[in-house]
Amino acid sequence: SQTPFTRRIAVLGSTGSIGTQTLDIVREAPHIFSVSSLTAGSNVELLVRQAREFRPHVVCILDESRRDELRSKLDDAQCKDIRVVCGSQGVVECAAETDADVVVTGIVGCAGLLPTVAAIKAGKDIALANKETLIAGGPVVVPLVKKHGVSMTAADSEHSAIFQCLQGAPQGALRKIILTASGGAFRDRPAKDLASVTLADALKHPNWSMGAKITIDSASLYNKAAEVIEAHYLFGLDYDNIEAVIHKQSIIHSMVEFEDSSVLAQLGWADMRLPLLYSMSWPHRVSMPSFKPLDLVEIGSLTFQEIDRQKYPNMDLAYIAGRKAGTMTCVLNAANEAAVEMFREEKIHFLDIPKINQAMMDSHRDDFLQYPTLDDIVHFDTVTRIHARELVASGKLG
Ligand code: NAD
Ligand code: MG
Repeated sequence: SQTPFTRRIAVLGSTGSIGTQTLDIVREAPHIFSVSSLTAGSNVELLVRQAREFRPHVVCILDESRRDELRSKLDDAQCKDIRVVCGSQGVVECAAETDADVVVTGIVGCAGLLPTVAAIKAGKDIALANKETLIAGGPVVVPLVKKHGVSMTAADSEHSAIFQCLQGAPQGALRKIILTASGGAFRDRPAKDLASVTLADALKHPNWSMGAKITIDSASLYNKAAEVIEAHYLFGLDYDNIEAVIHKQSIIHSMVEFEDSSVLAQLGWADMRLPLLYSMSWPHRVSMPSFKPLDLVEIGSLTFQEIDRQKYPNMDLAYIAGRKAGTMTCVLNAANEAAVEMFREEKIHFLDIPKINQAMMDSHRDDFLQYPTLDDIVHFDTVTRIHARELVASGKLG
């Protein structure tokens, strides 16, 4: 049997897709996991239920106008000792100023950056779901992880797969990373049909049930594009050695190729709880009776297809931004976040998303910084969102 261990978990974004699945894991393995803190955007009702069940020391509601309501709902004998904080400062407090061992970053978007940085500085290990942290902040976050000697373990299924395949591999053995992609909502539609797709169409993911932003990012293949950059920052390979391939079944979660040409893959059902669990428990393997074992005969066949780079311009943009590095990936991330928000507001068309990304990268060339500070990254994240909205408002987007 394995060495027993316990972990205290801070859950950022506890009311979202990643957050609720993290708590499903804690519920199933209470002998291992317990909860230090929970943070939510605005869903007070769910946060209160979670606080009652998991009894964290502190909870945060981002929306400051809901703080009093949250406090009053947690004012009985069992819950009155739970601290209630609010706003983005409250999120930072829940990430850094608790007794948590591991911080699960289930916040969506670059909003995850500052709390994650605070957690690293406080010596917390990071179970990274919030990939935007690395896309925007990679040049600052990667050295910080080294400096503070913490571990940053990916919860993203592809990067978890790569990390699992790398266990025990000697330094320098890794030659290539092959990311798999489901292909998103429009994988079976010809490129010309993308001109007429709607928001509702983009929100229908064929294989995974996830938050709205990452589901739209999957449809535009921005998610895979971002994962190329995420892989670079997590595993240190050059962009020439990071590839992506469409694998419709989402059973192989990614692969690594070693110097001797041997390829290793990690397989599992399309269930985020498995990579999440590994990011929370590494290097341990936890028994989870509710996880359905893989059945290859039930799956029958695994197929692979090349990504159409014309149909999905975000892929090339990610390689260009990634190779440029510095502030360019932050600008790509911020442009895409603003574009997806505007798409959800039905202000722009689906095909405008990569156009906005490209336009913001092009206009960043003069301001580009190769070695940004955290403040530089926050600055370009802010101004890029403003510029993207101005571009759309001006009607000048081609
Ligand atoms: P979601 O929209 O379901 O949940 C987001 C959570 O963050 C919610 O609790 C929300 O209240 C909170 N939140 C939103 N904006 C915030 C802000 N500005 N400040 C603080 N909190 C805020 O999103 P999700 O699908 O769970 O994704 C979370 C992250 O995990 C994303 O970065 C995504 O790319 C990544 N991820 C998700 C999945 C998945 O299966 N859902 C898979 C891989 C990676
Ligand atoms: Mg992924």
